[in-house]
Order: sequence, then C-alpha cells, then structure tokens
Amino acid sequence: VERYLQNIAAKRHLNAFLEVFEEEALRQAEEVDAKIQAGTAGKLAGMVIGIKDVLAYEGHTLQAASQILNGFQSLYTATAVQRLLQEDAIIIGRQNCDEFAMGGSNENSSFGPALNDVDNTRVPGGSSGGSAVAVQADLCLASIGSDTGGSVRQPAAYCGVVGMKPTYSRISRYGLIAYASSFDQIGVMTHSVEDAALLLEVMAGADEFDATVSQRPVPAYSQNLSFDRPARIGFISDSFDSPGLNAEVKTAVQGVLDQLKAEGHTVEPVEFPFLDYIVPTYYILTTAEASSNLGRYDGVKYGFRSENSTDLASMYKKTRSEGFGKEVQRRIMLGTFVLSADYYDAYYTKAQQVRRLIKEKTDELLSQYDFLIVPTTPTTAFKIGENTKDPLAMYLEDIYTVQANLAGIPAISLPIGHDAAGLPIGVQVMTKAFGEEQLFAFSKQLM
Ligand code: GLN
Repeated sequence: VERYLQNIAAKRHLNAFLEVFEEEALRQAEEVDAKIQAGTAGKLAGMVIGIKDVLAYEGHTLQAASQILNGFQSLYTATAVQRLLQEDAIIIGRQNCDEFAMGGSNENSSFGPALNDVDNTRVPGGSSGGSAVAVQADLCLASIGSDTGGSVRQPAAYCGVVGMKPTYSRISRYGLIAYASSFDQIGVMTHSVEDAALLLEVMAGADEFDATVSQRPVPAYSQNLSFDRPARIGFISDSFDSPGLNAEVKTAVQGVLDQLKAEGHTVEPVEFPFLDYIVPTYYILTTAEASSNLGRYDGVKYGFRSENSTDLASMYKKTRSEGFGKEVQRRIMLGTFVLSADYYDAYYTKAQQVRRLIKEKTDELLSQYDFLIVPTTPTTAFKIGENTKDPLAMYLEDIYTVQANLAGIPAISLPIGHDAAGLPIGVQVMTKAFGEEQLFAFSKQLM
C-alpha cells in the first residue's frame, strides 16, 4: 500500500484517482497482515485495488464523475466490492471516469480527463479511463470498472493492460450506478489474465439484491487456466475492411492470427454482416435506457440541487441543466427522442429488433467457433481534444467493442504490442455466454 501511495503521489498529474483512501487503505493493510500471520487471510489478501467512481462503497463519496452527485455518499456497498473486501482485498481509492460512464476518452469527466501514462497528451480511453491508467502506471494492482459498450476493454487496449467484461448477468449490478441496464456489466483491469480470473471468480455469482443476476455456479476460473487443445477461431474479416482501422493495429492483430495458426489452431475468416448497424443500434438503445435511468437525478433525492430555482419545475430544470455535463445531456435528449410516442417504433422498436439479429448472428458464429477475434479498437490512444468536437467520430471508436454488450457475451482485451510511437495495441477475444473459463484459459496461452 505504501508503495502504491508513493506512486500515486508521484503521478498526480495523470488524474487517475478522484480520491485516495490513504489512511483507510493503510489500516486495511495492517488488518490483512494480521490475518496473514494468523493464517486466516482471504483469497485476495494483499491485492490493492482501485474502483471506478460508479461503484458504491458505504460511507464513501460516489459521484460518477458528475456534479449532479456532488456531496453524495453511498449508504451501502456494491455486492462486487463487498466480495472483494470479504476476501481481504484493499481498496485504495475511487477512480476518474467519463461522467456516468458515458464516453470513450475520460474527457467527459467533470474533474477533467485522466492522462495516458505513455504519452500525457493522449487519452487513456474511457469511460473507465482512470481505472486503466491506474493499472498502467502501477498506482494499484488491479481496477474494477464497468463496461456498457467497451468501457473496460477499450481503455485497457489504450493503456496496454488486460481488460475483461464477463457475460451479462455474471456479476451482480447491485451498487453499480446504472447507465444502460440491459448492457451494463462490471469488469476488471489487470496486468495478467490470472489476476482477472481470480477477481471475476470472487465477484461473480448469485446475489439476492439483483434480480437479473445469473444463478449459475461460478467456476474456479483461476484454477483452470490451462488450454491444451486446438481451438476453432473465427476472425471477423469485415473488421479489417472498416475505413477507420489504423494500419499498425491491423498488422498487430494479423500477427496474432498468424501466431495462432502456427500453433495449430484453426483460424478462419467469418463474415458478420451487421457491423455497420452495431454502433447506431447501441446508441439508440443505450441513450433510451440512460434517459430513463437518469430521471432519478432531479435535485430531490441525491447530491446537488440548484440554488437558482424558484419553484418545483425550475428546480428540476436548473438542477439537471447545471448538474449534468454536455454529453450526458445530449444522451438524455437523444434517448427521450427515440422513446417519444411518434418515433418509438421507428427507432427504439427497430433497434431492439436489430439487437436481436446481432445477438442471433453472434450466437450462431459462436456455435461454430470457440472464439471470435477482432481488434479491440480501430486506433491507438488519440490526442486529448482530437474527437471532442465530433461525437460521431467518438462513437465510432466503439465499433468493435459494443457487439459483446449487444449480445451479452464475455469479451477480453489483451495487450499485443505497440505502434511505432510506443502506444499500446489490444486484441479482443469473444466467446459464448458463460464461456469465461475457456476465455481465460485461451487468453493466458495467447499472452
Ligand atoms: N464509449 C461507449 C459509450 O460512450 C461505452 C461506454 C461504456 O461502456 N460505459 O457509451
């Protein structure tokens, strides 16, 4: 803990943490130490973990990097965080992110962007940007983020760390601030596949506080990391045709495919005809869900209330106008529009139908192949400010990650090298729902 606290102090400029639980983490470390001496320590004893500012931790500030939650303190602890604590993990702080996890660069945080440690003029990715940098720069051993459309995997790729999003419903969402509930999953960022497997194993599983969580037993992922058979791998070839794909990213991913072939795996190009529909479908459905989920921040129940209001209606309006940032407001408006009576069928209903097609096609491919491979992102980490003027360009960065969320399947981003400028590149591996065990084992072999 002391070493990480020193690293955090030395790298304040990265803006990775919104709050460091300095004394508390040191106290936890003493307690864990005593348990280790006594032989009663849990599975995660000594693991120093940071949590994205969307996870509730009792008695601690929780803000989703937004001003609308200014001053809000959690009344309870998220199930996932509780399980980490039960196994004697040490929580070192609360990490910067895009406001309400909406974004892909951490530039939508009301606390300013986090910076990529490889090049401080570049973004760490997002929305779990602070969480990714914290692992990249060795400010903690692992981070817990959330992934609605790539928010764990994309920043992991930009920062050169492992980022894993499990099957939808694998981890309880109790205590996770909702963005788009039918997409949101908690995920992990680590240096190694082993750590990711261990953390998922601890956090996953049935929870009486989340009616949508899967009741399936949780395999001991970290104990089953050997993969010694030839795999059938589908490489989504359309992904190489997208105009935004950077040549160095393409070469690196091609290198992985060649390596897998040389190792005796079957690697075949597969077509996924819905690639162009993925991003629009995702943004119609997630903005719709967000507009509903964020209705609760009205100045009455949580955090911030505008002081400029004169009556109830103006209190709602002013609180929301002053408390939410631009991107969050844009999404609430888009979502309200697509759910409005005149447009509901044209957008929301249609997008639900397309989501079903995407899911069915993905499931069909995964009945033929053990794994699907695509780049994690079309580019390496871009410059701060480069995409802020053009939200569509920013949204298109999500082209390879949102498929897993639309289909509800697990996906992992693994670091596979750097471009000429030293910026990390990631490859993404997807597998069928609840196939985490084979996904971890295969990933370990790949790294
Ligand atoms: N970049 C995507 C978005 O802005 C993903 C965000 C996420 O996964 N939370 O919605």
